[in-house]
Amino acid sequence: MLKILVTGGAGFIGSAVVRHIIRHSQDQVLNLDKLTYAGNLQSLQEVSSDPRYQFVQMDICDQYKVLGELERFQPDVVMHLAAESHVDRSIDGPSAFIQTNIVGTYSLLEACRQYWLQLPHARQQSFRFHHISTDEVYGDLHGTEDLFTETTPYAPSSPYSASKAASDHLVRAWHRTYGLPVLLTNCSNNYGPFHFPEKLIPLVILNALAGKPLPVYGNGQQVRDWLYVEDHASALYCVATRGLVGETYNIGGHNEKKNIEVVESICSLLDELVPQKPGNIEHYRELIQFVQDRPGHDHRYAIDAAKISRDLEWQPAQTFESGLRKTVMWYLQNRDWWQAVLNGSYQMERLGTGVSGE
Ligand code: NAD
Repeated sequence: MLKILVTGGAGFIGSAVVRHIIRHSQDQVLNLDKLTYAGNLQSLQEVSSDPRYQFVQMDICDQYKVLGELERFQPDVVMHLAAESHVDRSIDGPSAFIQTNIVGTYSLLEACRQYWLQLPHARQQSFRFHHISTDEVYGDLHGTEDLFTETTPYAPSSPYSASKAASDHLVRAWHRTYGLPVLLTNCSNNYGPFHFPEKLIPLVILNALAGKPLPVYGNGQQVRDWLYVEDHASALYCVATRGLVGETYNIGGHNEKKNIEVVESICSLLDELVPQKPGNIEHYRELIQFVQDRPGHDHRYAIDAAKISRDLEWQPAQTFESGLRKTVMWYLQNRDWWQAVLNGSYQMERLGTGVSGE
């Protein structure tokens, strides 16, 4: 039984990790999250009253408070997911990305290093700092057969991916210079339940249900490699508990799709599942609108996930088809969750939030 501190556990992937740990292990979880607009405690209702789950609202940039929580909770593993994560927001305002993704990771590394140095030798040896990152640090691919491997040079394009690349470098430096036992993972695009509706897949589902335009950047030919979020959570737990210190693992689902294909697949699923359409349309795909491309938009991402499959025997459980169907069904069956996000009421829950679930 482990004690696992998760940063950013109220976010899309972080909440999937917390739910995964509580569902599939006997481990204890402390979730440290600042609750920015992307943090949503309603994504954690399933675990909120479990005695093995605790939540503390905290900014990872506050090194001394984070150190206090480390000393109180005594984690065996830190899984670091707290970040600003939306590329479009990083283009409009990079400052928060520099602050949380770079300065925040630095502060967390320092707090963890101080905590780790105080541990007895055996616990120092078994401690793990797992940094969760993205395939966007590698920039984009041009050849149709090329794949990102763990040794692909970094060439980030957006303020978001540059800030994540910087944080990856800091984590590796803290391992090389101070010996902090780190693990890194770089994953492709995630999708699934509890995804904030500013991202492509939930945005398209919710706009289509409301009869609103479905915006597609440029010509929609950009290729992304999609992974169902619960598969990412299982891969992260696998790396955190069984990965080799100092190693990086790329995580992906071998699901390369053009953005336009993703949008058309969602439209087809909705044609089948919600035949009563809004307005005068016959097919949801009539709502597709091509909009001006994002500046610096990467053309193609694709992950070679051979290492995690070979060394840790991890495989995704969902194909893109099964995962997308589950996702669309989830949004149809969980209107309360996304309506609270759309009308902003999900943010009320954070008022008066201190420590809960203890
Ligand atoms: P998200 O935006 O949904 O959630 C981020 C969480 O971090 C939120 O709960 C937010 O409140 C919290 N947070 C932000 N700033 C904080 C701070 N200063 N202190 C404490 N908490 C803070 O992001 P996500 O999609 O769940 O991504 C999680 C991690 O996975 C990120 O590091 C991201 O780079 C990485 N990643 C995401 C994807 C993807 O497709 N979403 C793919 C690969 C890797």
